[in-house]
Amino acid sequence: MRIMSWIQNHPRVLEVVYSRAQAALRPFRRWLRRGGTIERVFIVGEIATKGPIFDCRMCGQCILHSTGMTCPMTCPKTMRNGPCGGVRLDGTCEVRPEMPCVWLQAWERSKRMPAFGDEILLLQPPVDRRLEGTSAWINEATGEGARMPPGWGA
Ligand code: SF4
Repeated sequence: MRIMSWIQNHPRVLEVVYSRAQAALRPFRRWLRRGGTIERVFIVGEIATKGPIFDCRMCGQCILHSTGMTCPMTCPKTMRNGPCGGVRLDGTCEVRPEMPCVWLQAWERSKRMPAFGDEILLLQPPVDRRLEGTSAWINEATGEGARMPPGWGA
């Protein structure tokens, strides 16, 4: 457990890993599709890696690089833009006082990310629940993860 919080509190390392993984996958984009064996392998890999490190909820639209490498889906309100305004004076969550506000952590960690840190200022569209349980890496490669819901200005 201690090692996981160490990793999360060193988002610079994760940022480098993310950039390298993204670059490594780029040449294979055209073969990455939803459904089938390749996606199943990715899903297993994401559950095995992002699960223990980020408490990933497999939303299928990963924005860790925009949220200080802190999973926004672990916020009890599953907010994609935060904080909600109900943060307690001691920095804990208003819904679950035993946990620190996910968005305060995201803000603090994003300041330690030279490449993607500013992305926390971006307004995130609502999460597409139809992608839940699918591979975020595949969705990023196909562009499905970045598709805007109808009526949402790009
Ligand atoms: S943003 Fe989505 S895919 Fe990324 S760690 Fe959180 S639940 Fe998993």
